[in-house]
Amino acid sequence: MAGFARVIVEVARNREFDYRIPEALRDAVHVGSQVVIPFGKSEARGYVVALLDAVTRPGLKEIRDVAGRKAVVSETMLTLARWMADYYLAPYEIAVRTVLPSAVRKKGAAFIERLQVVVTEKSRDPAALLALRKHAPKQAAALDVLLGGGPAFLNHLAHSAHTTPAAIHGLEAKGFVQISKERFTRDPLANQTFLRTEAPPLMPQQEAALKIIRQSLETLTPPVVLLFGVTGSGKTEVYLQAIKTALERGQGAIVLVPEIALTPQTIERFRGRFGEDVAVLHSRLSQGERHDEWHRIHDGVARIVVGPRSAVFAPVHNLGLIVVDEEHEPSYKQEEAPRYNARDVAVVRGKLEKCAVVLGSATPALESFANVRRGKYALAELPARVDHRQMPSVRVVDMRIEAEREGRVNIFSRDLIDAIRLRIERAEQTMLFLNRRGYASQLICPKCGYVAQCRSCSVALTYHKTTDELLCHICGARQRVPERCPEPNCRDPAFKYAGLGTQRIEVILHKLFPIARVTRMDSDTTTEKGSHRRILHDFRGGKIDILIGTQMIAKGLDFPNVTLVGVISADMSLHKPDFRASERTFQLLTQVAGRAGRGDLKGEVFVQTFTPHHPAIQAARRLDYAGFIDQEFEGRRELSYPPFTHLVVLTLKGVSEQRLQFAGEEFVKQLQPRLGPQVILNGPMPAPLARAKGLYRFQILLRAPLTKQVTDPLRQTLGAFKWPKDIECSVDVDALQMM
Ligand code: ADP
Ligand code: ZN
Repeated sequence: MAGFARVIVEVARNREFDYRIPEALRDAVHVGSQVVIPFGKSEARGYVVALLDAVTRPGLKEIRDVAGRKAVVSETMLTLARWMADYYLAPYEIAVRTVLPSAVRKKGAAFIERLQVVVTEKSRDPAALLALRKHAPKQAAALDVLLGGGPAFLNHLAHSAHTTPAAIHGLEAKGFVQISKERFTRDPLANQTFLRTEAPPLMPQQEAALKIIRQSLETLTPPVVLLFGVTGSGKTEVYLQAIKTALERGQGAIVLVPEIALTPQTIERFRGRFGEDVAVLHSRLSQGERHDEWHRIHDGVARIVVGPRSAVFAPVHNLGLIVVDEEHEPSYKQEEAPRYNARDVAVVRGKLEKCAVVLGSATPALESFANVRRGKYALAELPARVDHRQMPSVRVVDMRIEAEREGRVNIFSRDLIDAIRLRIERAEQTMLFLNRRGYASQLICPKCGYVAQCRSCSVALTYHKTTDELLCHICGARQRVPERCPEPNCRDPAFKYAGLGTQRIEVILHKLFPIARVTRMDSDTTTEKGSHRRILHDFRGGKIDILIGTQMIAKGLDFPNVTLVGVISADMSLHKPDFRASERTFQLLTQVAGRAGRGDLKGEVFVQTFTPHHPAIQAARRLDYAGFIDQEFEGRRELSYPPFTHLVVLTLKGVSEQRLQFAGEEFVKQLQPRLGPQVILNGPMPAPLARAKGLYRFQILLRAPLTKQVTDPLRQTLGAFKWPKDIECSVDVDALQMM
């Protein structure tokens, strides 16, 4: 039996320490156990990452205690953490922390226990009852409530019997009831009932897709299935039935959903089919709820987990299936260390756990489609909507012609206004999409051209009308609107708002259609708990005619009465300094268009743009994914961008531009000799977002066909290089963000 344990400690990053396991704890310490150890002058908590028979160094300190009997982290999850640390160049300790939610790790995390009251035999004895009624009417009243309603929590019982906890303890003393501590699980979905649903018979295309996934479940060939299905083609139904197959095989499942698509409607579909077997993990849960949900999974009570990217680490027993819905979504990437992509982690976990992985999307990422072409993933297709509902027709509105005809640039084209009016007359619903919240993007002085900028970030401030202030969307800084232009030589009072935000769309719509019921949904209107749910509920119930929103309304929503979707400006996402701008625009337009015509009525989509002939917009108009990616693949291949290479972005931040440039150049000097000929290096250069939160930002970009070709030399160089104290360096492997 092993006498020593290698431990990583919460407080010390990227180092491991060896401890002796005292005789008394030998049976309790496993790989993955959480232990209490002497550390420096005090105590610390850590995780056992390996057991050793012998160590080279004498005089080791001893482990003091073990928290819990079961290992909290499985060996597989530690292997996964090791892979993450390695692949994403992150400290191992941070990777281990990532596989364990803080709600479980923290010292204070625990179950709540409550006092439960149950009746005893004596309470059925008529003579004893009679005596009680006579001498202690309050106690008798409490007992009556209990006899009528069954076991209850002590404080609830005292409340409903209009008496005190003391009276109930009195009942216990007399032997009428028994009080015991019960574990109370905080259920985030308590008070919500879900109608149970039955699996409908599948359409032939769904049947074929399910067959491929079942084969993967049973034989692990193919290990990964890309489920490419147009919006409304019934992908979710395929997931549900695949999960059912996993359950029948005695296996559990994880379903990853982008955070913003984790709507009540989505949860309802899984809870409705599988009831209490489903645990939901998401960021709106309290620490306590998260702790309890995690343990419901860890104890095998819940076998299915639905959640955003961190749910990929859920401790599901005997995992049989991982589904990644909307696998192309950038929100699967964590923007802090370890900068993992949950989709890719899902594939790796699938390999380690020997379970099937399904990646689903109407617009798969180029990376995933490339893996199909390379034969790594199998492809299952759902080319048509359920019940042969028609795909919406997409019209591109050329805003240049519109501007010429009207003699000015309007926000709403005539065509879109007419289309909205028609929907109001027919009592059908409209969704309008704009990817920027706030009222106007900028405050501009028409005389001297001054634009109100954030003091600490290199971006223009956004005007918010409801609070009448300027807000930085990077750092959150707020500022009053100046009364006149601050330029000393100008001081003109006639400030103008330029650009667009969802608030402004709302104001204009009220003017255009005074009778229409208009609601806006973006991160400004959904800060209150439950507001998200309420807006969607009202929209579904027909209490709203027009819903305006940011990308929050682009995904996963299914409203059969929506027959019109308007994209106010497709240009906004198209002209970002990012090689994925076309792909993102195409995905966004396709997703948004997918909200239209999901019922029996055909949907119509209007896309307003000043660049109508852009390939991404034309492809979205034709709903032509294959055509789009063929063209896009060519462009990426020519420029050696992903999926033909892996992209690693180093970002340097600091207060001095010169020092950043200098340190960056020094680093590159040391890195360059270690790089093979396949690696393309650019920089150091100022990042597209050149300044944020008061710090300058520089970037170094590295690309190579294999990640290791970049990360191995990078690890060596980073290990030997000392950054000046005032410079912070972060590494993003398979970066999705170029800002
Ligand atoms: P997707 O996830 O591809 O957007 P969904 O799974 O949400 O598609 O399906 C779209 C709609 O069709 C949903 O309302 C769903 O309940 C319904 N649906 C899916 N599959 C079937 C089926 N086999 N029979 C009847 N209705 C179905
Ligand atoms: Zn700012």
